[in-house]
Amino acid sequence: MKCKKCNSSSALIILRKKDLYCRECFLANVTHKFRSSIGKNKILGKADNVLICLSGKEGSTVLLDLINNALSLDNHKKLRITPIFLHLCENYETIKNVIEQCQKYNYDLYSPHISEYVQSKSHIPIVNSLPIVNNELIEEYNNMQNSMLPTVKDDFITNIKRTLYIRYAKLLNCKYIFTGETTTTLATKLLVNLAIGRGSQVQSDVGFLDSRDMEIKIIRPMKDISEEELKLYINSKNLKVNDKQTSKENEHTSLQTVISTFVSNLQENFPSTISTICKTADKIGLQDECDNERHNTCVICQSILKPDEKAISALDATSISKIVSLRKHTDSGIDVDMEKNVINSTIFPYIHNRLCYACSRNYAEIKQSKIPSYIIETQK
Ligand SMILES: [Zn+2]
Ligand SMILES: [Zn+2]
Repeated sequence: MKCKKCNSSSALIILRKKDLYCRECFLANVTHKFRSSIGKNKILGKADNVLICLSGKEGSTVLLDLINNALSLDNHKKLRITPIFLHLCENYETIKNVIEQCQKYNYDLYSPHISEYVQSKSHIPIVNSLPIVNNELIEEYNNMQNSMLPTVKDDFITNIKRTLYIRYAKLLNCKYIFTGETTTTLATKLLVNLAIGRGSQVQSDVGFLDSRDMEIKIIRPMKDISEEELKLYINSKNLKVNDKQTSKENEHTSLQTVISTFVSNLQENFPSTISTICKTADKIGLQDECDNERHNTCVICQSILKPDEKAISALDATSISKIVSLRKHTDSGIDVDMEKNVINSTIFPYIHNRLCYACSRNYAEIKQSKIPSYIIETQK
């Protein structure tokens, strides 16, 4: 039993049930994956301010450690960015833990409350302190959450976080954002996207770079690191993660939690599951990025709106089947295009005009008064 890389036989770690590494080679390999994903995609300039978004979970814990290591190097491999740390507060237990994590490395943390989403503007919060609670905002936010079915809610929260990351990046003068998604989370995200009608957004949601915002780029430097590697990294470096969080996540069953369980169960017995899914993702649609012309974008998720798509879409399929089922009852010869418009505006509000297919469908399912009015009413 020897390390695959250096033949040492001490402190061996087993990866994917077959690959043996010594502790040093294993950690070097994870660090290399992190650095090469940033290096390969030469978009970061020297000394750029980067907003590092920390959830407090495993990915975020390892991201924080990797960044700290890369910043403290004294050679040409030193990461030359100015990091600014942010945590969106959802519960007070986690926030205390994230502040503590950052303080160990001597970093300051900004932690606004997630309910800031219900208002259109925010201010820079005070560092290393709990957010100032505005009960009205929190109540409005909770009402909005409670009006959603689990799958819509999971999808909406993803967009809420993205919107707030971008908002705070602008306030804190950062042109870039780092988030801690791993190969495993991104593989799940890919399948979720296809299932909920966000197939055209796969590249931005799952790839290394999300450049939907004109000013702020979201980068995923952990995209080649798997959940298994995270756990082994945390163990071998003795990092502390708040384990209360994991139990909280399985409170509800949504399409997202079902797909996540499916992917991790499959990965357990077929270790190449996740890498196969991710390789497929890399091949899907780079089209939008090559397209320099600026299109209208969805007011919730910022994906490009293309009203005159020639190909038959999921939307067409849904509205055509709706027309057919209505016809059975009325048997009239009304103009199909007119019918389609009527149906689109009722079951797909604001479609192609302000919202993309998936956001429009979500919007129709949420009790509409619960969505903050500034979002839909924004003048374009
Ligand atoms: Zn070794
Ligand atoms: Zn959208």
